[in-house]
Amino acid sequence: MKAAQLHKVGKIETRPLQVEEVELPVPRRGQILVKIEAAGICRSNLHMVEGEWVHMGVPAKYPIIPGHEIAGRVAEVGEGVTSVKKDDKIGVSPLWTSCGSCEYCLTGREQLCWKRDITGETVDGGFAQYILANDGHIYPLPAELDPVDAAPLFCPGVTAYGAIKKVPLGPGKKLAVFGVGGVGHMAIKYGKLYGSDVYAVTRSDLHLALSEELGATPVDAKKDPVAQLNRLGGVDASIVFAPSSDVAMQAVRATKRDGTIVLGAWGGVPDFPFYDEKKVVGTLMGSRQVMREVISLAVSHKMLPVTETHPLDEVNKAMQELKKGEVKARAVLKPWG
Ligand SMILES: [Zn+2]
Ligand SMILES: [Zn+2]
Repeated sequence: MKAAQLHKVGKIETRPLQVEEVELPVPRRGQILVKIEAAGICRSNLHMVEGEWVHMGVPAKYPIIPGHEIAGRVAEVGEGVTSVKKDDKIGVSPLWTSCGSCEYCLTGREQLCWKRDITGETVDGGFAQYILANDGHIYPLPAELDPVDAAPLFCPGVTAYGAIKKVPLGPGKKLAVFGVGGVGHMAIKYGKLYGSDVYAVTRSDLHLALSEELGATPVDAKKDPVAQLNRLGGVDASIVFAPSSDVAMQAVRATKRDGTIVLGAWGGVPDFPFYDEKKVVGTLMGSRQVMREVISLAVSHKMLPVTETHPLDEVNKAMQELKKGEVKARAVLKPWG
């Protein structure tokens, strides 16, 4: 099969991913071979490829195929798999597998499992024509969902929805989303769905325009966003997807007393005003049940990502565009052209 492999971390401009022929994986007991129809390109793929996560042991192996938001069809099932059959539409998320028996797995928080595997970081991922998946960690996809729309649900969708579920929402509630990309634009959509007033904070003209298209009030980050939001009396909650301590502190300052700040990216809060009783919480993806809700909302309320597509051969080009901030919301690879 054709796959984009990382042999050595490095700057994306020097084309570190090699698109090449690799051996077709064979599903073992409890595994499923998935023919990939669409795979989203995530900023975290870029962080791994450029070597920013080596200190965390990512990637865990070489060569590795990156990519963790995947939609496709069952090509072959391994021994003991009865949940799906050949040609069923399914998706694969970043949570490739979890142990099933730790305190997190037993309480519906398996994304926090210490023995988890992460798709495209510890095991081969989706920038390929096929991937192996685990029986307990696949998601049936409704027939009406296009694979290109479905793939980004597995990272931006579940990450944004997981963050949204941690904040107060509803009519009259103000929500600020800091960082409008693949994840941020989905957070805007969910915030609107629940009736909140959504403010989208970004430096990029492309993303300010996208925010407005999605029904958010654009807030230009180049023009003192904290002052702009505080003029409205502050927001009830902020969600931060921009990896920056400056942005995290902006979110803290723009959020009302007793409000909630959700961090979905690296960021420090060095001057945290404890006396305002604000809450800072982290967020990482969501559980399998949360993932199911995301798929359900995609169908029932058209909670679909904004996408653009590329063939697999253009993976390095597409990742460079992501790095330069030229991707409107989500770039998706179509490994079969
Ligand atoms: Zn991702
Ligand atoms: Zn576990």
